[in-house]
Amino acid sequence: MDIDRTGTPIPRVKCEVDTCKYWESGNLCQAQSIEITGREARNVHSTDCSTFENRS
Ligand code: SF4
Repeated sequence: MDIDRTGTPIPRVKCEVDTCKYWESGNLCQAQSIEITGREARNVHSTDCSTFENRS
């Protein structure tokens, strides 16, 4: 899924994935929108951001 990178971060979202092409300094996400997967997750390891794309 190719999402546009915007000039402004998503409010209230903190992300530490600095290898993502949408990541911005300050743990910000500048994707147009994000999608989180992990239906029926029972713990934190069962969810992920599926919008992630490698920066390189
Ligand atoms: S798209 Fe997902 S992984 Fe990438 S910076 Fe945004 S929240 Fe983080």
